[in-house]
Amino acid sequence: MNYSVIAYIGLGSNLSNPIAQINSAREVLKASEEVTEIAFSSLYCSPPMGPSDQPNYVNAVIAISTALSPLDLLHYLQKIENNQGRVRAERWGARTLDLDLLLYGQQQISLPDLVVPHVGISQRAFVLYPLQEIASDLEIPFFGLVKDLVALCPADGLEKL
Ligand code: ATP
Ligand code: CA
Ligand code: CA
Ligand code: CA
Repeated sequence: MNYSVIAYIGLGSNLSNPIAQINSAREVLKASEEVTEIAFSSLYCSPPMGPSDQPNYVNAVIAISTALSPLDLLHYLQKIENNQGRVRAERWGARTLDLDLLLYGQQQISLPDLVVPHVGISQRAFVLYPLQEIASDLEIPFFGLVKDLVALCPADGLEKL
């Protein structure tokens, strides 16, 4: 049995009733034996990153405690994405559900399929603003405090729902 760590997951959706997609993913995580919810941010609306011919996104961040290994957690998140109809097409294209492993304790991970902290964490308003709500004083390995990163990050059209 591994010790539990606190992990942060970014949720995003812009297809097939995004609010329902985010709430459903949250319920699946909460119901999991392997995961305990610690905190859940407000929902936010953000303009798309990358291709602009797609709907706005709904985003949120969840804090969990889990004893799953980082790769087992990633695979579990991918299973939830697939169960909610995620189709992998163009990069940053529209999707029913995106679950990014933002942080896994204070670990820095650099594997072919898993980079933690997540690549976008230090610059994306739709990650940093919800993260700040539930973990303002959190230190992101390599990048610094969440609240300091938020202060440097323009809201970029992000709106709380
Ligand atoms: P971005 O990663 O820039 O937010 P994206 O979420 O659209 O873009 P995906 O198509 O969902 O990208 O994922 C591409 C690959 O990223 C996945 O196959 C996965 O192996 C890899 N990956 C690396 N690090 C992470 C992480 N921390 N969380 C989720 N996926 C990751
Ligand atoms: Ca649970
Ligand atoms: Ca993503
Ligand atoms: Ca992703």
